[in-house]
Amino acid sequence: MQIYNSLSGQKESFHPLQKGKVSLYVCGVTVYDYCHIGHARTNITFDILLRYLRSIGYQVTYVRNITDIDDKIIKRALDNQESPQQLVQRFTTIMHEEFDRLGLLHPDSEPTVTATMPEIIEMIQTLINKGYAYVTTQGDVYYEVARFTEYGKLSKQNLQELVSGARVEINDLKKSPLDFALWKSAKPTEPAWDSPWGKGRPGWHIECSAMSKKALGATFDIHGGGSDLRFPHHENEIAQSEAANGKPFAHYWMHSGMVQVNNEKMSKSLNNFFIIRDVLEIYPAEVIRYFLTSGHYRSEINYSTDNLNSAKAALTRLYRALEGSTAASAPTGSPYESRFNAALADDLNTPEALAVLFDLAKEINKTKAPELQALLKKLGTILGLLQQDPAQFLQGDTSAIDPAQVEALIAERKAARQAKNFAESDRIRDALKTMGIELKDHPDGTTDWLALRISP
Ligand SMILES: [Zn+2]
Repeated sequence: MQIYNSLSGQKESFHPLQKGKVSLYVCGVTVYDYCHIGHARTNITFDILLRYLRSIGYQVTYVRNITDIDDKIIKRALDNQESPQQLVQRFTTIMHEEFDRLGLLHPDSEPTVTATMPEIIEMIQTLINKGYAYVTTQGDVYYEVARFTEYGKLSKQNLQELVSGARVEINDLKKSPLDFALWKSAKPTEPAWDSPWGKGRPGWHIECSAMSKKALGATFDIHGGGSDLRFPHHENEIAQSEAANGKPFAHYWMHSGMVQVNNEKMSKSLNNFFIIRDVLEIYPAEVIRYFLTSGHYRSEINYSTDNLNSAKAALTRLYRALEGSTAASAPTGSPYESRFNAALADDLNTPEALAVLFDLAKEINKTKAPELQALLKKLGTILGLLQQDPAQFLQGDTSAIDPAQVEALIAERKAARQAKNFAESDRIRDALKTMGIELKDHPDGTTDWLALRISP
C-alpha cells in the first residue's frame, strides 16, 4: 500500500513495524457538544482505512481517544449548570450513537484523559527531568519548544519563523510564546488532580502522547486526524513523545481534509455549521458516508444540498444493481476486485474505488449475475456502503421516517380515493409531502413512495 505521509510530504510504501500487524492512533472528539460533519469525515476516512487494512489481512489495533477534560468542557458545563462529568457522559453517549448510525467500526480501545492521569503525569515528569519542560512559580508546567531541535518537522515550519509569527501573550511566566502547557494549575472550582507540581489538569497535547504510548507503545505505525490538528497539536505530540521516549513517534501521519459548506469554511460564526444529528434527519447515513467518500480524503469537500442529492442518486444506482439479489458467493480473482483494491492501495483513492463499483454495477445490470451482486456487496462493505437491504434503501427509508407510518397513510389515502373523498386524499398527499415523501400512483391502483426529504 502507498500512503501519503504528511511527515515526509510524499507518498511512501507502507511497511508496518511488525509484519502483518498495524497500530493506528486517531485523535478523537472533545465531548462537550454534538459532533459535526467534519468529525464524520475524519472518522469515516479512518474507518475505511481500518476496513481496508483488515480486508487485505492486517491485524489492526485501532485506538481513538476521548478528550473528557478540557477548557471547553469546563466552560460549557458551567454555562449549562451541570457537572463536567454529566456533560461528558451525555455527549459521549450521543457520539457513540451517532457514530454507530454512521456505521463506524468501534475502536479496539477508546482511552480517556481522566483514566490516563498517572501516565500523563509520568510523561510530564520525564520531560522535566530531561530538561524539555519547566515548572513555573504558579505550578504550571510548560514544554520548552526551543529545546526540541526538530520542532516544525511535521508542519514544515522552522523555529525562527514560528517565533517571529507568534502572538505574544501576556504571560511572563513562559520563556517563549511558543512554549505550550503540559500541566495547568487548578483555578478554584475547576476539576483538579494531584501532581508533583500541585493540583491541576493536563494541557491538551500531552494526552495523546501518553495515551498512544500506553495503548500502542512509544513507536507505532499510523497517526491520523483532521488536517486542522497538524499544527500545533500533532507537532506538539511529536515534540513531547520523541523527547520523552528518545524514540521515533508515529512512522506515518495521515491527515483528512476539511469540509466546506457552499464553498465557505464551516464555522459557527457563519452559521453554516452542520451537526451529524441534523444531517441524519434529512439523509440516510450511507448517503452521508457516500458523499464524504466521493472525494479523496486529503482534498477539501464541499457540503451542499446538491452534492448530498447527487450522492443519494449515485448510491441509489448502486443499490438498484443489488435489487432482487439472492444468496451467492463472490467470485475469487475478479478483475473488479483487483482494480478496487489497487485504488484503495493508492493512498485510499476512494473516488477511483467507487468508479470500479459503478463499472461492476453496469455489468450486473446487464447480466443480473448473483455472484457479481455478491461481489458488489462485498466491496461495498470495505467502504461501509451497501449494508442495507436494497428494497428498504430504494424505498427511500431514512431513519427519520417511519415506513409503517407512511404505509398507513398511503392506505388511508387509498380508502379516501375509493370513497371519492378527493379533498381528504389530497390532504394526505400534502401531509406526506411535508414529511418529505413523494408518491407515485400507478395505473393498476398501487402507490410507490420515495423519501425525498431535502433541506430547502
Ligand atoms: Zn491528539
